[in-house]
Amino acid sequence: MYDIQKIRADFPILGREVYGKPLVYFDNGATTQKPRCVVEAMSEEYYNVNANVHRGVHFLSTQATELHEGARETVRRFINARSTAEIIFTRGTTESINLVASCFGEAFMSEGDEVIVSEMEHHSNIVPWQLLAERKGIRLRVIPVTDAGELDMDALERLFSERTKIVSVTHVSNVLGTVNPVRRIIETAHAHNVPVMIDGAQSTPHFAVDVQELDADFYAFSGHKIYGPTGIGVLYGKEQWLDRMPPYMGGGEMIQSVSFESTTFNELPFKFEAGTPDYIAATGLARALDYVTALGMDQIFAHEQQLTRYAMEQLQTIDGMRIIGTATEHDAVVSFMLGDVHPLDVGTLLDRLGIAVRTGHHCAEPLMRSFGVPGTVRASFGLYNTTEEIDILVKGLRRVSQMF
Ligand code: PMP
Repeated sequence: MYDIQKIRADFPILGREVYGKPLVYFDNGATTQKPRCVVEAMSEEYYNVNANVHRGVHFLSTQATELHEGARETVRRFINARSTAEIIFTRGTTESINLVASCFGEAFMSEGDEVIVSEMEHHSNIVPWQLLAERKGIRLRVIPVTDAGELDMDALERLFSERTKIVSVTHVSNVLGTVNPVRRIIETAHAHNVPVMIDGAQSTPHFAVDVQELDADFYAFSGHKIYGPTGIGVLYGKEQWLDRMPPYMGGGEMIQSVSFESTTFNELPFKFEAGTPDYIAATGLARALDYVTALGMDQIFAHEQQLTRYAMEQLQTIDGMRIIGTATEHDAVVSFMLGDVHPLDVGTLLDRLGIAVRTGHHCAEPLMRSFGVPGTVRASFGLYNTTEEIDILVKGLRRVSQMF
């Protein structure tokens, strides 16, 4: 039983008003709000446990370490990784992808080698590869996107060459809401002996992900997009790859022994975790994952699918509405243009009505260019949104449409 009012009561911020109007928060793709239990778990640790992890023999340090490693186990279970050695804590999806581009690139790529990305990638999954291109002379090959906002899978097949070393694509587009057929992409790549990195920033908050079932080689996501704190994210990587990759940063935690002649590195996952980790955020993330797990990822998915369908139907009744991204497999994101009103104007007027949406290029400029738009208005839904809130959005958009 999905008790939406009870769920909403877990998120104090949803009770606030902006400009004297009840907040309608539709910017979940950028970041989600936090349930009370997440914030409380973090302050509880600060107040009662706080000590640096992995280093001390004293009581608090041992307890903090247990919480931290317990959080890693919670993440492992959440995405069904084989072992906690495959779960690396990072600052977020961006850092996770940078780590792979940097370390995989260092170990396995040389001049003339190729990475396949797609036209719908977030800048976080383009720029790290471009930096590698500058350093090592590798090349980016790009899977085009169809008018409906789906990946052109026939084109993907043609992009493979003997120089292809890795494929890196998003599971769900943060602009179009398209759910990509990543299982099929991974199968195709593996048939060419090429590993696959998946950007899971927009998938993990919305449906269950099983990295073993997908057979993903790397999978990244951010804590703050899944009702957890900022400053923490995850990189899942198969041990067979992580073992053969050099460390990302040097410092404490990631070493076994240091001398000026030679340094040896710690075992996985610590080899990739230099410095004091954000162990408080890790606790918050684990609490957030427990929270969504208790609600049920399948229930969250069903609720948000219903919201998305309702939003698509209702938005289409507005004059001048152009929805960008009409893929069959579509998740909790709806992007649109309202006639030729600039997205920024739409967003500003909706804001005055208490409705938070995102406007602009959504860190996906190449995709905007391919659709020939300067940006879009994006409403993205979370587990606490309601159809009544969509009605408020639709009413607001009718007003904006009339004004222009
Ligand atoms: N990839 C996608 C698809 C995203 O939507 C985002 C965040 N908008 C990112 C990567 C980057 O995530 P973060 O800023 O948390 O590192």
